[in-house]
Amino acid sequence: MYDYHAHTNYSDGAFLRWMVDAAADAGLDGIGFADHCNVSPEPSARRYKRALGFNLDMTYERRREAIEAVREDAAIEVFDAVEMDYDPAHEGAIAEFLADAGFDYAVGSVHDLDGANVHTRSHFADKPEAERRELVDRYFEKLVALAESELFAVAAHPDLIERNPHLRGFATEDHYAAVADAFRDSRTVPEINAGRLLDDYGEFHPAPAFLDRLVDADVDVTVGTDSHEPDAIAPRVREIEAELDRRGLEPVGLDRVVKRA
Ligand SMILES: [Zn+2]
Ligand SMILES: [Zn+2]
Repeated sequence: MYDYHAHTNYSDGAFLRWMVDAAADAGLDGIGFADHCNVSPEPSARRYKRALGFNLDMTYERRREAIEAVREDAAIEVFDAVEMDYDPAHEGAIAEFLADAGFDYAVGSVHDLDGANVHTRSHFADKPEAERRELVDRYFEKLVALAESELFAVAAHPDLIERNPHLRGFATEDHYAAVADAFRDSRTVPEINAGRLLDDYGEFHPAPAFLDRLVDADVDVTVGTDSHEPDAIAPRVREIEAELDRRGLEPVGLDRVVKRA
């Protein structure tokens, strides 16, 4: 199995070498590093990435050198990828950056909702329920736009809103149907993401009912552990393998994700 979604200290993860060694120990055939990247010109996005040190737009060439070096003696394949913040308003800037950078593949993520990261509980906590439901509508509209943009090989954690208790439970069958239609017509493959499975949230993204709908609609899937630490990789790989077995699912082949020169 390939894990197409892991982080290094080029964003908010651990050292590249540690992650590669842990991926090999976990029995993976390869690991893809999709560090956070944001090219939005908006001041709030710039402040956020400055605060967190998410600078892959400036550092991807250095990371690429490090990936090339680690490949020389790595036991498994190592992919040079990106987890790009997607917003329909900035498609032009994203497309231009991705074309210039030439990653092995790009993972697209909707992380921003109402000018805040979806994770940020305090931003959503005091809003009335009707408003939070509308924001969940916006989230799924952005996800449909992500699929339609054709900019990405992979769509990350396609129901990230579930991770926030103030947005959880507002996804509807209509949302799922719209997203399933968009993915069926797109090159972009949604991932089964284990990033919070063994954590506070305790489910995969997409949540079971959402994955049911995607599978019913014959949407292909891929997988990602979304690991930031070496120790997280093996247990998440085992859980993903068990879930694929339970459902009789096969992730898409390497060719569907990784672009070879
Ligand atoms: Zn993410
Ligand atoms: Zn991630």
